Amino acid sequence: MAKEELECSFCGRKKPETNLLIAGLDAHICDRCIEQAHGIVLEESKQNDSSDLSAELKLRKPQQIKSFLDEYIIGQDTTKRVMSVAVYNHYKRLLQPPSQDDIDIQKSNIIMVGQTGTGKTLMAKTIARMLNVPLAIVDATVLTEAGYVGEDVESILTRLLQAADYNLEKAEKGIVFIDEIDKIARKSDNPSITRDVSGEGVQQALLKLLEGTVVNVPPKGGRKHPDQKFIEVNTENILFIAGGAFDGIDRVITKRLNMQAVGYSASKSDDIIDPDNLLQYIIPKDLKDFGLIPEIIGRLPVLTHMDPLDAKTLRAILTEPKNAIIKQYKKLFAMDDIDFSITTGALDFIVEKAIEYKLGARGLRSLCEEILTDAMFELPSSDEKSLNVTKAYAEDKLTKTTLKKLKAVS
Ligand code: ADP
Repeated sequence: MAKEELECSFCGRKKPETNLLIAGLDAHICDRCIEQAHGIVLEESKQNDSSDLSAELKLRKPQQIKSFLDEYIIGQDTTKRVMSVAVYNHYKRLLQPPSQDDIDIQKSNIIMVGQTGTGKTLMAKTIARMLNVPLAIVDATVLTEAGYVGEDVESILTRLLQAADYNLEKAEKGIVFIDEIDKIARKSDNPSITRDVSGEGVQQALLKLLEGTVVNVPPKGGRKHPDQKFIEVNTENILFIAGGAFDGIDRVITKRLNMQAVGYSASKSDDIIDPDNLLQYIIPKDLKDFGLIPEIIGRLPVLTHMDPLDAKTLRAILTEPKNAIIKQYKKLFAMDDIDFSITTGALDFIVEKAIEYKLGARGLRSLCEEILTDAMFELPSSDEKSLNVTKAYAEDKLTKTTLKKLKAVS
């Protein structure tokens, strides 16, 4: 074929009419057709993305969900089982075809009660990671009723949209973790005394979101104003997980347990109550007595608790999870060809200090940082190619002052 007769095999444009004509084995394609085809590829892959989401969601059975959680989170078996079932049911509900009968499966929003640092956020994060759905983590304490200083509850959905890269379909199947839900508990038992800006009003505003509704969400956050464009987000299939420490709820639980013991079940009450882990006996009524309104409790039907972290658990957290702290340091050092190791004695010492100074799991990381900062500063520029952290080395780096400082910031 003569050069001037070349044409695009897709649109038939002659070579001079194109900016670029690329030759294949037996055909040619022009720049315009390439761009158009590229557009189709993008569109297709977007659609495949969402069908992937459904396909992936279908795959996990509760036991598989729990095994996944086991890889990242130590202990907390009750919560893992409860969460696995709740998450499975939630996504089963979401994937079901529109119902033919009158049976509507209700949402299984979850509330986790447990001291700070016991892994509530980690649990929500791990579930979102497994499902490959967007996750928004919000703090209930910054939420206020519309009209007050603070953030409207809609801001929760702005965060979720952002986490989903503004893909509405993904956001509407996402997870919202509302931390510190206990901080919006009603402070007084008499709801009529004063208007409680940060408490009951926020609980009321949250109700609709939890249950499932269409909300106008300002995509960039901030206050609503008249000429702002909104995105309509349907919360029907969003899984809400609430978490809180509920400081003092053990008194509520003890009181109830004692009353039960005195009451009709006195004769049967030889069940031994573990005073170190009272949260395991929690029931929805305790949340109500603490100050959550019954409607909120009703919309968070799955109640579970986190066990306090004992020495054995803290020790395991240091080394066992898939991205355990010690594994992370090993990797960091390896990037500089430094072989990092730490003795059992040093690990036990770190755990001992975390307990002594009540630093919890979060403190493990700060303790390791304190111990390793000097080495991380010096070794990359030195000829030293290995570091073995012993108890003596750790003791040397962790002075009393450092520990006090850590306690103060925890
Ligand atoms: P919470 O939300 O309950 O305050 P986090 O989930 O933020 O606690 O936990 C704080 C840190 O402690 C996490 O980053 C995690 O590394 C660690 N951690 C806490 N509990 C566990 C656990 N059971 N297994 C593994 N890591 C844990």
